[in-house]
Amino acid sequence: MTATIIDGKARAAALRGEVAAGVARFREATGRVPGLAVVLVGEEPASSVYVRSKGRATAEAGMLGFEHRLSADTDTATLLALVAQLNADRRVDGILVQLPLPPQCDAQAVIEAIDPDKDVDGFHPVNAGRLATGLPGFVPCTPHGCLLLLRAIHPDLSGREAVVIGRSNIVGKPMAALLTGESCTVTVAHSRTRDLPAHVRRADIVVAAVGIPGLVRGDWIKPGASVIDVGINRTEAGLVGDVAFDEAVAVAGAITPVPGGVGPMTIACLLRNTLVSAGQRDGVETGM
Ligand code: NAD
Repeated sequence: MTATIIDGKARAAALRGEVAAGVARFREATGRVPGLAVVLVGEEPASSVYVRSKGRATAEAGMLGFEHRLSADTDTATLLALVAQLNADRRVDGILVQLPLPPQCDAQAVIEAIDPDKDVDGFHPVNAGRLATGLPGFVPCTPHGCLLLLRAIHPDLSGREAVVIGRSNIVGKPMAALLTGESCTVTVAHSRTRDLPAHVRRADIVVAAVGIPGLVRGDWIKPGASVIDVGINRTEAGLVGDVAFDEAVAVAGAITPVPGGVGPMTIACLLRNTLVSAGQRDGVETGM
């Protein structure tokens, strides 16, 4: 058996097309375009690449992009002042502070300073609380993208066994909350989990968000399971995920490749959240 390869690039392109159409309708209704502000501190190469591609995608969707590049020695007070300015700026619907921040910056304080209704990354505790309690709010983009990919294969996820590997605030925890919301039976595995293979073997859905190349082996996977690989690991062999793809593809029912799986969905979901935010601000239905 060979798994269906989940084409995240194609799904993301479709979502970006829907967002662009929504932006055009929003512009017609309000006479303005949604705005996304991105803040980058320092010049960490991976972060710089992400910020550049976010800028490009924002323009392609017909939105306004505001890029704030600050030097690596920026302090927390300066960042808090910038966030306050962006909170008050009516042209800005979404604020994203690229993580990780340099060690002298209090990342939690910065996240908590963002207006939760402009927090398109969904990292503010208010949005985490909304997700945990099933209220509408901004959902972190990467797990949201994973859910959209899963829903495309399984329109009804209810009752399925799901194992999420990783418990970060950015991916693992919100992913578990989303799958719980879909009525899956969810196990969250992490660095202290005993016998990870045994948990994975029970799973109809596996989401790996760890950062260890090829951690999840083919013989851990239940035949026919859907495997979502969030991991992005730079190795000598190039970019690889947290799942041993060549082994897993022979056992799984469906699997995301790395690259070209989850990655493209993250930016598409960010654009979606920005349009949703603009719609909420102006009281316009965006269809998202
Ligand atoms: P993180 O370092 O914050 O969290 C990693 C998690 O893995 C932790 O909760 C830890 O408990 C768990 N873990 C560590 N070792 C383990 C082990 N041996 N067995 C089981 N669990 C273990 O990382 P993160 O921010 O959640 O990111 C995870 C991966 O996803 C990274 O490779 C990152 O680059 C990638 N990522 C991709 C996207 C995307 O857009 N595709 C977005 C965010 C993160």
